[in-house]
Amino acid sequence: MSLDDIAIEVLSCKKCQLSKLRLNPVPGEGNPNAEIMFIGEAPGAKEDMIGKPFVGAAGKLLDTMINEVLGIRRKDVFITNVVKCRPPNNRDPLPEEIRTCSTYLISQIQEIKPRVIVTLGRHSTSFIFSSSGISFANITSVRGKFHQVKFYELKIKVFPTYHPAAALYNPSLREIIRQDFLKIKEEINSKTFTIDQFFDKDGSTNQR
Ligand code: URA
Ligand code: SF4
Repeated sequence: MSLDDIAIEVLSCKKCQLSKLRLNPVPGEGNPNAEIMFIGEAPGAKEDMIGKPFVGAAGKLLDTMINEVLGIRRKDVFITNVVKCRPPNNRDPLPEEIRTCSTYLISQIQEIKPRVIVTLGRHSTSFIFSSSGISFANITSVRGKFHQVKFYELKIKVFPTYHPAAALYNPSLREIIRQDFLKIKEEINSKTFTIDQFFDKDGSTNQR
């Protein structure tokens, strides 16, 4: 299934109770050939209004890290969430909602086949780890390093970091996230990445 087909399904999905209160489902967006994927938790108020991921205050911080630390553009990567509809009052997604919605995320990962997945916060980290047969205790003990995983026959380097929203409440996390992004930059600059990933013929898109 193509990314567009997945997005079309998400836009009319009623598989869980979050469909009742959402304004707009948020399938995710970005480069279909991205080597790096960012996975957050669930849409917030602004994402719910606009239908795009990470367009609020947390998104601004994520954009800054992508632009200024990684030195690439938002459209070079793919950004999505574990759960595609906003939970009421931004409560945590329930295990049942994550389980039901995860079919979309799994299909997106299988379609994009990213080399690196950056999991933002404990929900996406826990989901990717448990789906790869790795036990997950807490975000603090796994963040800031690459974990080689096998996710549905794909070999992927998973890099957990704190959720950017956490840095809005606890500014000291901002520097930790920046340090984490510097490690991601090292990886994307290493020779395991193909040069043309980041430099397309017209200099504007990012095809492999
Ligand atoms: N927080 C998330 O986890 N995802 C978004 O898209 C926005 C805020
Ligand atoms: Fe469907 Fe996921 Fe939205 Fe639930 S959260 S209605 S499973 S798209």
